[in-house]
Amino acid sequence: YEAKKNGRNTFRLYSPGMDGDSRRLQLEIQIKEALQSKRLALHYQPIIDMENGKLIGAEALMRMPDEDGSLRSPADVIPVAEAAGLINQLGAWVAGEACRQHQQWLDVGLPSMGISINVSPGQFRQHVFTEQLQHALQESGMDPHCLQIELTESAVLDNLPQTIDTLTKLRAMGVRIALDDFGTGYSSLGCLSSLPLDQLKIGQSVVSRFDSSEPSKAIADAIIALGRSLNLKVVGEGIESEETREYLRSHGCDQAQGYFFSEPLPAPEFEAWCWNYLEQGQRAYH
Ligand code: C2E
Ligand code: MG
Ligand code: MG
Ligand code: MG
Repeated sequence: YEAKKNGRNTFRLYSPGMDGDSRRLQLEIQIKEALQSKRLALHYQPIIDMENGKLIGAEALMRMPDEDGSLRSPADVIPVAEAAGLINQLGAWVAGEACRQHQQWLDVGLPSMGISINVSPGQFRQHVFTEQLQHALQESGMDPHCLQIELTESAVLDNLPQTIDTLTKLRAMGVRIALDDFGTGYSSLGCLSSLPLDQLKIGQSVVSRFDSSEPSKAIADAIIALGRSLNLKVVGEGIESEETREYLRSHGCDQAQGYFFSEPLPAPEFEAWCWNYLEQGQRAYH
């Protein structure tokens, strides 16, 4: 955007053409169509126990195919879905699909694992949210303890009393709760101890800067120490190298996720990855 001064106190914002708005509108239409025609997909990325290399779960990540078959980043899709009032419908689909898939993997004999789904701030604040999860769990028959939701700090810190109320309800249902992208936003450490949480996920942007910046290692260490003292599991995400995994492991991080193990995969590929990993004795350490 280019701001142009127009007289003394007036500014006018120019976007290149009216492209921004029309692109957003186009995306909104695409999301509606994708929801109607069930053209959405979830990809799954393994989460590994740092101590013994065991596969313990997967994060489900939403994918929406473009007309040309390429995949849209959820980072683009989610905010538009929120603004267009489509986030509930989208979120309900994600929860339903993840729970259904979890049960299907149990049916084919994969060992039980946790499934994490991401919940956006707008979705989390809706009153129907807990009912939606309950519905997805009941429909599928999934053990609630296997379901985890991932929330960002911005979702959690807005309206703290309501947050605590909702999280307490979810916990009572048996659902687990992770704070996503920790260390990348405006963490209010004081609030953390009052929240019923299970996990802290060290933000990918912290982990990915390990090579280039010493401070990001110090931040990771601090998050691990914080997690320890609050009795939370700490997950390192965005792990792309053996060095990074080893650094986090030896510094007390509990779980690992990242391209080093696998990128997020469509369900059939993820299942194949799991069988292969199990066959090899769950060796995350070469
Ligand atoms: P997130 O929850 O923090 O998910 C982790 C992101 O890091 C994913 O991006 C994943 O593909 C990527 N990633 C995983 N390992 C690596 C690695 O080793 N290196 C790098 N560079 N990246 C890695 P993705 O799938 O594009 O998702 C972006 C964000 O969109 C997610 O961040 C999450 O906040 C949001 N999102 C994704 N799916 C959903 C969904 O179903 N609902 C909601 N509300 N948000 C979603
Ligand atoms: Mg996440
Ligand atoms: Mg994250
Ligand atoms: Mg994120």
